[in-house]
Amino acid sequence: MISFSDQELADLPVATIGQETDCPNCGGRHVLKGGLDKNGKETAQLLFYKCGETPYFGGFLGRLIPSLVAHQES
Ligand SMILES: [Zn+2]
Repeated sequence: MISFSDQELADLPVATIGQETDCPNCGGRHVLKGGLDKNGKETAQLLFYKCGETPYFGGFLGRLIPSLVAHQES
């Protein structure tokens, strides 16, 4: 598991379920989906998107992961 300090996490852009994010793989955009919690409810604790049939890690705790942030700023 990747770990970040609270401050690093707070500096990342907010990511929400249903939000589109740039895809570093194909250059397109994909919708972020949440993982399911123990009750089967979609949650932003872990976020991912699919490029084709392959799921990619997109964020966690409601924040975009840094690799996607760097891509969006370029
Ligand atoms: Zn893609």
